[in-house]
Amino acid sequence: MIIMIGGNMYCDVLIELSSFNIDKTFTYKIPNNINVLVGSRVLVPFSNQKLEGFVLNIKKDIEDIDYEVKEIIDVVDNEPILNKELLSLGRSLSERTVSTLISCYQVMLPKALKANHKVSNNIKYVDYVKVINKPSKLTDKQQLIINEFKNKDEIAYLDLKKINSSVDTLIKNNILEKYKKEAYRYNKEENIEDKFILTNEQKEVVNIVKENLDTNKKYLLYGVTGSGKTICYMDIIEEVINRGKTAILLVPEITLTTQIEMRFRKRFKRIAILHSGLSDSEKYDEYRKIKRGEVDIVIGARSAIFAPLDNIGIIIIDECHSDTYKQENMPKYDAKEVAIERCKYHNCPLILGSATPDIMDFAKCQKKIYELLVLKNRVGNAKLPSVIISDMTKEQRVNNTSFSEKLYNEIINETRHNHQVILLINRRGYSSSIMCEMCGNVLKCPHCDISYTYHKSKDVLRCHYCGMAISMPKECPYCHTKTLKELGSGTEKIEEEIKKLFNLRVVRMDLDTTTRKGSHERIINDFKNHKYDILLGTQMISKGLDFPNVTLVGVINADTSLFIPSYKSPERTFQLLSQVSGRSGRGEVPGKVILQTYNADHYAIKLSSKNDYIGFYNEEMRLRLSNKYPPYFYLSYLIIKSKDYDYLSNEVNRICNLLKSKLPNFDILGPTVCTPFKINNICRFGILIKYKNEDNLLSVLRDLVDHYKSNNKIRIEVDFNPNNI
Ligand code: ADP
Ligand code: ZN
Repeated sequence: MIIMIGGNMYCDVLIELSSFNIDKTFTYKIPNNINVLVGSRVLVPFSNQKLEGFVLNIKKDIEDIDYEVKEIIDVVDNEPILNKELLSLGRSLSERTVSTLISCYQVMLPKALKANHKVSNNIKYVDYVKVINKPSKLTDKQQLIINEFKNKDEIAYLDLKKINSSVDTLIKNNILEKYKKEAYRYNKEENIEDKFILTNEQKEVVNIVKENLDTNKKYLLYGVTGSGKTICYMDIIEEVINRGKTAILLVPEITLTTQIEMRFRKRFKRIAILHSGLSDSEKYDEYRKIKRGEVDIVIGARSAIFAPLDNIGIIIIDECHSDTYKQENMPKYDAKEVAIERCKYHNCPLILGSATPDIMDFAKCQKKIYELLVLKNRVGNAKLPSVIISDMTKEQRVNNTSFSEKLYNEIINETRHNHQVILLINRRGYSSSIMCEMCGNVLKCPHCDISYTYHKSKDVLRCHYCGMAISMPKECPYCHTKTLKELGSGTEKIEEEIKKLFNLRVVRMDLDTTTRKGSHERIINDFKNHKYDILLGTQMISKGLDFPNVTLVGVINADTSLFIPSYKSPERTFQLLSQVSGRSGRGEVPGKVILQTYNADHYAIKLSSKNDYIGFYNEEMRLRLSNKYPPYFYLSYLIIKSKDYDYLSNEVNRICNLLKSKLPNFDILGPTVCTPFKINNICRFGILIKYKNEDNLLSVLRDLVDHYKSNNKIRIEVDFNPNNI
């Protein structure tokens, strides 16, 4: 919308005030010489500062306002960065998550385009050269340069320079012209075409979706590990592109983006990537490619769901059971719900894919909210691996390590045949805690209510919540004896044990070994190229990865996730074990899995070892019903935080009583302390709300949050369908 000169024009600008948890919209006058567009950022005066804000609305008249209307200082964006769809998506996100509108817009944008990001959004330029005049007489060297332009209009200056230096002379003689062009920093080579003939099962799935590309159907693709879900995605996306539309593919984490990206680049060209492994500048470049309509496919992690594609023809969420699709900070949005809304807007299908769908999503299939698509078989001759439970209450351990004889022997056996092994230990660091054997104290972070993890390679104790690290003390800080003992094993310790036990090449993949840029890719490629025999890692290696030469997967401790106090623990354990098992035997040779556990009789472990998803689903649904958990009941969780413990405990009780009176038909449980109770010196209480119907819940919660919005002592966060309860 361009503003006509003549008469005063005004606009409403949404501003972020970091010290308050409030949305503030203010009216500003638009100076005559400035063009302002809805959805773009503008610079405005605010008290004594200059702030950036989003233009929500442009108007001719102003209502009665009790403040002096000032003028906009400048526009930041010449084009809107939030289009109509994203503007309204932000509004519903803010409503659904009971969070501020500004936080919703900010979360949708890459850092370089957020308001007040304070990062210079530097655009990279590269020198290009083109022919501007017909050359008359040329030397042989010069001719070589000119020949390069036979099939091209322009060539990067540095590429020509590599051929020979006469390019500079040609520029000087006005034959060639040198100019600057915007360049993108994230560039990956495209590979050779790599296409498969679909299996009958795959064809069936793909055809159903292709026939419904003009509908808003929601599919759950339940396909066992190695059944070729990715191939199906590619085939469907190809059809979408042929129809002139675009696609979003979400993947749970960067480990997987790397591999999926490589597979997609073999078949498609116009791809943008958005995930945390990219630098801010690279993300900014990828985002601009998308906005300019230069890509057909966006592949990325959670926030890629906000990719500003115009003409979306399908959204696919791979490994849709993953927790990572839910953001844990405010606004606590669920990318699946955003996807549903965007698919509705674009009238296109949604595919959720997984070998271990969420109980909730599978239940939605039974209620016909989603349509179920099934891939029952692995591709080719591959069978699902046979899973052996190694009962650690009975097994012998090798040399007092974490390895049972069974697992030890299988590792020796498989690697002797030149096969590769994946080992899962779902905890990083060396030991999970340090305890004094004399006084029994466990060393804890002073800022968070959680024990330190020992990281042996750096000889530090680190808090996994606030990141604080101290060097490993020589003696117990409480009783001063030298009797500190490491409890529980993490990836570092297992790596050490592997090096002691086996003469094999091992690579470790966890948060600590993947901080450097490109490290995921390097580890995955090196393992794929068999530079290592063993890939050892945390849950980071469990999902989606496809290494055909892996014939053995070992789970060092299948119980780690079982006893986290959450109703989802059995489901998470089942998913983790099934997923990591799915990495075994994906090629010609049948695979094996060994699960070491102290709870061999637990249903999650037993059923995952039998690859019995339906059995697990039925058992879990039975328990959920009797314990009043989703999908039979909805949950929302209020987290109330403050630095001031006394003040907080008072307010929390008041809030709880208030909710009980305003929501008589809801189960209000609590207040209870969150685990951990304290993070970064901030105390946290939780109130759990269970209900069958949402009724007036949203408006009651909004009122509550609004009531506290300018209270700096307390923060309230609302978490719908929380992951950690
Ligand atoms: P999933 O995502 O379901 O675990 P993938 O898409 O990773 O499965 O496929 C598993 C393996 O099978 C991959 O190596 C893939 O290249 C191969 N594959 C899938 N479909 C076919 C097919 N139709 N023909 C040949 N190979 C296939
Ligand atoms: Zn801490």
